[in-house]
Amino acid sequence: MKETSNIFSNDQAIPGNSFQSQLSQADLTFKELVHALPVAIYTCDNEGFIDFFNPAAMALWGRQPEIGKDKWHSFWNYCHADGSAMPLDECPVAITLKSGQIFSAKEIKIKKNNHPCLNLLVSPCPIFDDQHHIIGVHNTVVDVTMQKQNEEKKAMLSALVESSDDAIISKSLQGMITSWNSGAEKIFGYTEQEVLGKHISIIIPHHLKSEEDTIISKVRSGEKLDHFQTTRVAKSGMEIPISITVSPIKDTRGNIIGASKIARDISERLLIERTIQQSTQNLRILNTIGKIISENLDARVILQEVTDATTEITGAEFGAFFYNTIDERGEAFMLFTLSGAPREAFEKFGMPRNTAVFNTTFSGKGIVRSDDIRKDPRYGHNLPHHGIPEGHLPVVSYLAVPVISSSGVVLGGLFFGHPEPGVFTLEHEAIVDNIASQAAVALDNSKYFEEVKALSAKKDEFIALASHELKTPLTTIKGYLQILEKSEQNDRDRLFIGKISNQVDKLNTLISDLFDVSKIEAGKLQLFMESFDLQELVTEIIETFQYTDKSHRIILQSDGKPLPLEADKARIEQVMLNLLTNAIKYSPKANEVLVTIESTESTVTVRVKDEGIGLSTEHQKKIFSRFYRAEGTANIAGLGLGLYLTKEIIDRHHGQIAVKSEPGKGSTFFFTLPLKPIMSDNR
Ligand code: ADP
Repeated sequence: MKETSNIFSNDQAIPGNSFQSQLSQADLTFKELVHALPVAIYTCDNEGFIDFFNPAAMALWGRQPEIGKDKWHSFWNYCHADGSAMPLDECPVAITLKSGQIFSAKEIKIKKNNHPCLNLLVSPCPIFDDQHHIIGVHNTVVDVTMQKQNEEKKAMLSALVESSDDAIISKSLQGMITSWNSGAEKIFGYTEQEVLGKHISIIIPHHLKSEEDTIISKVRSGEKLDHFQTTRVAKSGMEIPISITVSPIKDTRGNIIGASKIARDISERLLIERTIQQSTQNLRILNTIGKIISENLDARVILQEVTDATTEITGAEFGAFFYNTIDERGEAFMLFTLSGAPREAFEKFGMPRNTAVFNTTFSGKGIVRSDDIRKDPRYGHNLPHHGIPEGHLPVVSYLAVPVISSSGVVLGGLFFGHPEPGVFTLEHEAIVDNIASQAAVALDNSKYFEEVKALSAKKDEFIALASHELKTPLTTIKGYLQILEKSEQNDRDRLFIGKISNQVDKLNTLISDLFDVSKIEAGKLQLFMESFDLQELVTEIIETFQYTDKSHRIILQSDGKPLPLEADKARIEQVMLNLLTNAIKYSPKANEVLVTIESTESTVTVRVKDEGIGLSTEHQKKIFSRFYRAEGTANIAGLGLGLYLTKEIIDRHHGQIAVKSEPGKGSTFFFTLPLKPIMSDNR
């Protein structure tokens, strides 16, 4: 091991010897220089022992080496630049010591226990003696860790910018483009070379030019613009909807020197949003129309709804439903409902005729959908117009869907037109076809309903006629019975005449009820209004009733005060008789019926309470309808008309009628009528 020296064992120059002194001075200057250098420098002897180092080397090692003890490799583990372990004999210093090879800024990595890796550039050089033997190595070591990290970060960032589908653009505060990634190239169609140094307004549409001033003034004041939706123009001239985020770019001292702009092409997103909106809207329409179709029996309402909805869904300029009504010449179809255009727009031109284009639909051959009907080979062959008549709504896009009933009859067709080409899609076709099938079912139902209505009208007509015809002979029978009653009779004859008379009365009531029903249906039930006291009427009715019917005791509960009514007395009597007859008829095991009368200043309520068979809630809802009879009443005579008439009479008097009942416990029927207002005497 040779004699060692280092910067800290600073030899002083020997005064008096001028050459020696100059040399010492130079040595001193050199040592001071090395001492001050920020780069680590050290030397080692041929055995690797460190014999010289500067403070920067010491700082890098992390401690002061012990001269004669520490070797150049005593401080670290060595790695190649890629991070893989480097055996000691492959280290640059070891190679230089062994072979004299010179390294210039060789990149290595070092690891110190529990410390992050450092990137170093080492430049070991051999030191020779006079005989050119290697007696040591001097090495400069530069720590480039930070630089390396920055480079990596930069590379990563630019890879990120380049790989982004978004346009990432930077520009100066004057709006000059300073960088332009491949995303920007893809979206706007300009290459980086084409736009660098150009003003950003190159991609701003004319009508939005002022936007840039606002953006730049925000950037200047350090503000960020987040997800701002606007439009930019591509090289091709196409306008692209974009969402942009603009942020200020600052230099190392924090001064704003430009702006970065991230722009995302949102045309696809907007398209999806629009499609979702459209689908939701279509679903809503389909839902509404499904409801209307299923709930309605009126053909015109159904078809108008269908035409409106399908016109809206398809985006047609107008839509129409034509009935498949062939005229005497076997030609025209009838316009039934129209949407999107005034009726006159069609009526001036007459109905569509049996042309090749229309025939496809009306003969049920299928749907016709055309982006431009004028190019259809079936179009334009008919006189006199050879296509759409002059002045008619222009039709370029055309869609026609037949409406076919379940029995295969083509009821008509839904037609849609638009002056632009290519408006109707396959999806429109499918939706309209679906609605057309639903409409066909509804139209079938509506037809059946009309038939049922016609049959029902016939039945009412028959009832009116029959009850009228039955009444005449019955009146005659009743007349002869009255003559017989007055003539001399034995006991047996009197009994029989009495029984016949009773049955004739019942028959008479039934026929009267039937006659009343037919009058109600025809809207001809007349009321003959008069003033009377309800209290008096009810009392009389009960007395008479009690006289003929002894099976039940009818109890009247009332304060007895007069109850003035303006009503049809005979009809109110009919109501009372119906309720009393029912109360007795439907309480065969009981022997009492309670009638109560209560009044307020303006109304009177009469209740008829029995302790009979009662009614379930389900039946209670239905007993006021025509011919309705509750279950379990088959052995009790009746037609199911009394309550229907009763309700009609009360309704016509602006009153209300209802029932409270419990099966097996009895029922209370009650009606309320308005009392005749008492005129105040102002004299
Ligand atoms: P009808 O008595 O001729 O059948 P109504 O119209 O008077 O016809 O009554 C309709 C139905 O209501 C009856 O068939 C019966 O089922 C039920 N109903 C009416 N009154 C009563 C009652 N007091 N108690 C139980 N059920 C009744």
